[in-house]
Amino acid sequence: MHNAIPFKLENFINGQFVPPVSQNYIPSINPATGDQINDIPNSNAADVAIAVEAAEKAFPAWSNGAAEMRFTILNKIAEQIHNKLDELALAETNDNGKPLWLSKEVDIPRASANFRFFATAAMQFASESHSVENKAINYTLRQPIGIVGCISPWNLPLYLFTWKIAPALAAGNCVIAKPSEVTPLTAYLLGRICQEAGLPPGVLNIVHGTGPQCGEAMVKHPKIKAISFTGSTRAGKQIAEIAAPMFKKISLELGGKNPNLIFADCDWENMMETTLRSSFSNQGQICLCGSRILIEESVYEKFKLEFVEKVKKIKIGDPLLNENKMGAVVSELHYKKILGCIQLAKEEGGKILTGGNSINPSNRCSHGFFIEPTVLEGLGPSCRTNQEEIFGPVVTLQPFKNTEDALRLANDSQYGLACSVWTSDINRANLIASKIQAGIVWINCWLHRDLRTPFGGTANSGVGREGGWEAMRFFTEPKNICIAFNNSK
Ligand code: NAD
Repeated sequence: MHNAIPFKLENFINGQFVPPVSQNYIPSINPATGDQINDIPNSNAADVAIAVEAAEKAFPAWSNGAAEMRFTILNKIAEQIHNKLDELALAETNDNGKPLWLSKEVDIPRASANFRFFATAAMQFASESHSVENKAINYTLRQPIGIVGCISPWNLPLYLFTWKIAPALAAGNCVIAKPSEVTPLTAYLLGRICQEAGLPPGVLNIVHGTGPQCGEAMVKHPKIKAISFTGSTRAGKQIAEIAAPMFKKISLELGGKNPNLIFADCDWENMMETTLRSSFSNQGQICLCGSRILIEESVYEKFKLEFVEKVKKIKIGDPLLNENKMGAVVSELHYKKILGCIQLAKEEGGKILTGGNSINPSNRCSHGFFIEPTVLEGLGPSCRTNQEEIFGPVVTLQPFKNTEDALRLANDSQYGLACSVWTSDINRANLIASKIQAGIVWINCWLHRDLRTPFGGTANSGVGREGGWEAMRFFTEPKNICIAFNNSK
């Protein structure tokens, strides 16, 4: 960026950076060092109201303009994110604790890809028509909803923020967006990028603040007609309770406790390498991480020995150093939560095969929040450790006897987001895919993303789907028009 990031961040409303009405701020901490890096606006309903006013003014021109105009501007935003990869990646790592190489290879390129993908969707989006012989024709308009709210979590900050904002804008809506108060930096920088790319004032408004104060004000605002939310099941439930009586459209992408089913006949090397990633990428803080590893009993001991040996070799420490495969977890609060979950697992009778401790790297990270990758065994499916989301570098191992037993263990969960199945038997893979409680099934892979596919979960993992046309449909209201022909003359 040409301008340094100011210590006091501001909201981005009506194309301008403005302080919060209350003049209240909250500290933002670098979790790898424990140092405060910014103050962020502690916005409330008054800031949300000003943002909504700006969005209301911007809506007619943005929604009525040619799709090509939206394509051009969104594509420029994608370009700018791409051009500013290094600056954005450093900001993401300082805010979140994730390794810098990961921010550079995954988070920021994906944020750019989100804008590029939905820029083209603006040009391609079409609606249906249904003709009734010579009697009538129905055609369905898919009109933008108006002003929509996007609320995102801290684990993949810019990646998930843009995953919501880009389709909302592409479909012709104006947006009020709130990043997590734990990781506000790249969202702040996105405001600058929108200015540079020529996004008209008021089309995207970014407000910073806490969930209960700022997020809830967005959900309660009567002129915000739809809420796209990614975060915890707890917050998703609160949002649904507020939004349902207002008949708002909601898309909720919530927690998970994903199973990873490993059969003896799988491609072992590929499975082992991928399972290490699916367990501990981003310090285990990806909603799609597999936290319950289920292994066919004939290869349980073999898996355990090899997996634990490899986990012990994962380097963890300063996220700015390339050699480290894992960095800090996102905050002190989350660090304490994860350590509490490990303690609970021990009390429930779990045996720690490796990990289980916090780490204090020397150098600048000695006050950071680092936790060893942790592998547990000896816990049954119904204990809290195997039922509740930890969202950290902690996995459990459980043996199973056969396909039926594997499915029983996998489906013994209140969640239903994703799963991975490792087998060379296509019939078995297909059977599991059809019977498993999950919105996303990976066969012999993990996190093989295609932005066109429906993304989301069932049960306590949420309602609605994101991605591709699903997102464009969520952010539009269908209106069916039926024209009858009078053919009697
Ligand atoms: P969180 O629910 O605490 O916060 C998420 C966002 O919601 C933040 O911006 C927060 O300020 C806001 N928020 C919190 N309470 C709110 C309320 N009552 N009303 C409105 N907004 C509110 O979640 P988190 O700790 O930031 O993220 C971790 C969670 O996100 C995990 O449970 C993880 O599984 C989930 N997640 C899910 C997906 C998915 O696609 N299903 C992806 C990533 C993360």
